[in-house]
Amino acid sequence: MPPFKVIIVGGGPAGLITGHCLTKAGIEFEILEARASHDANAGASNALWPQSVRVFDQLGLLEEAKKLYTEVNFKACVLADGTMFYKSEAFARVEEQHGHPFMLFHRGELLDMLDRRLPDRESHVHNNKRVAAIETSEHGVKVVCADGSAFEGSLVIGADGVHSTVRQLMEEKSPQPPPEEAMSTTYIGLYGSCPRLPKTESGTFYETHGPKFSLQLGVGHTRNFFVVYHRLEKTTKARHRFTDEEKEALAVQYAETYITPDYKFEDIWKTALWSHLAHIEEGLVDKWYGDRIVLLGDNVHKMTPNVGFGFNNAISSAAALTNGLRRLILEKTQAGDPAGIDTEALTRVFADYEKIRKAEAKKYIEISANYSRNVAWDNLLFRVIDRYITPFVHLDVFLLKQLMSPQVREGVVLDFLEEKDFKEGKVKWKHPRQKLASTSQDGDGDGKDDSEDSA
Ligand SMILES: Cc1cc2nc3c(=O)[nH]c(=O)nc-3n(C[C@H](O)[C@H](O)[C@H](O)COP(=O)(O)OP(=O)(O)OC[C@H]3O[C@@H](n4cnc5c(N)ncnc54)[C@H](O)[C@@H]3O)c2cc1C
Repeated sequence: MPPFKVIIVGGGPAGLITGHCLTKAGIEFEILEARASHDANAGASNALWPQSVRVFDQLGLLEEAKKLYTEVNFKACVLADGTMFYKSEAFARVEEQHGHPFMLFHRGELLDMLDRRLPDRESHVHNNKRVAAIETSEHGVKVVCADGSAFEGSLVIGADGVHSTVRQLMEEKSPQPPPEEAMSTTYIGLYGSCPRLPKTESGTFYETHGPKFSLQLGVGHTRNFFVVYHRLEKTTKARHRFTDEEKEALAVQYAETYITPDYKFEDIWKTALWSHLAHIEEGLVDKWYGDRIVLLGDNVHKMTPNVGFGFNNAISSAAALTNGLRRLILEKTQAGDPAGIDTEALTRVFADYEKIRKAEAKKYIEISANYSRNVAWDNLLFRVIDRYITPFVHLDVFLLKQLMSPQVREGVVLDFLEEKDFKEGKVKWKHPRQKLASTSQDGDGDGKDDSEDSA
């Protein structure tokens, strides 16, 4: 019987973090990524919430992450004319609540770290491999790429983003009628980065609120990260690839809108180092697995990024799925029954994983949707709440404690690794620190303590 191996389709944030988790679990895997390489210049910001910081700690990535991130303590809420109407301390409360801070990264740098730090990266990640077909049998999977190459394994984890080929292939194999399209778009986002402007304060996250739009500006060490959220007239399920002309036209539309009290959007735009205009889909896929295929990341749960929960959900999912697969392999190996890792046994693991994560992801999608619509004054009530009630009663701090913290505390961690830098705030974690019998951090079975960064 061939050794147990996972084929991960997609080497974006979700695919790479899953690779790290599987490495620690001692599970063999290969990642097939359509792109030739990662563009370390690409993307806006990507923030980690404390539940994900715990997983980074377990994976030995925290030390380097601490060198890359910038802290966020305040949110400066601004009107289109630059007037600051509220300075919120909600971000600073995150650390009080959960022990670890809210960590803000440049997406390109974070992705580069995940890619570079994957042990034995060259034998695990195959670039220029666009997956086009999947064959499944009772014994395993064969994944075929557009260039004709094929990879065999025991199961497929689809981590190929919102327009997922794996999801489509999985749904085509199902005897059920194809489900209705789960993703819809209400907002489009113009996002990217520019060299850091002098009057942008470290530790402050700027956010412009207005009718049917909002703007965000994060402050990194050397860059500012920006997003313009623009509401469409009508929510759509159609896909659209924007042209450069459409991107420029949206930038011109917001040129005079202030993104901080000191800078208009045009000040950011004219020095942009990288930018992209895209649909910001929202949605939750109903069926997360089928046969020997399971989905993970933006292809099953997509949310507006205003509060920065998308990748954080993928991290919890990667941990939950890895825990399940590792348990199954141990159970069958100890029982001397490696052939018992059949489709039925895998399906049980996938079902457990979906059960753990789907309801949580749904709440994150709802929280994100409400936040986006509130700051973009989707209706009169939101406008009144955002403009007058929130600053007066610090409603955002209240909601962080009452709505977000109960979600954050649920974050799944790897159940077989210690945390070197364990932290807990006022809110107790649902999944407490692992107390391992031995002091060894060896999760990949190589006999070495690999708890901290070895790059
Ligand atoms: C402006 C903005 C800001 C954000 N900020 C945050 C934040 O602060 N915190 C947070 O948690 N989240 C944030 N997000 C969301 C986060 O970026 C996503 O949740 C995350 O990128 C999802 O990762 P993924 O790997 O599932 O999908 P993707 O990032 O889409 O990656 C999918 C990968 O699969 C590859 N692929 C696609 N098809 C195939 C195929 N057929 N074969 C092989 N490979 C394929 C692609 O090339 C790509 O590399 C933000 C998003 C945006 C747009």
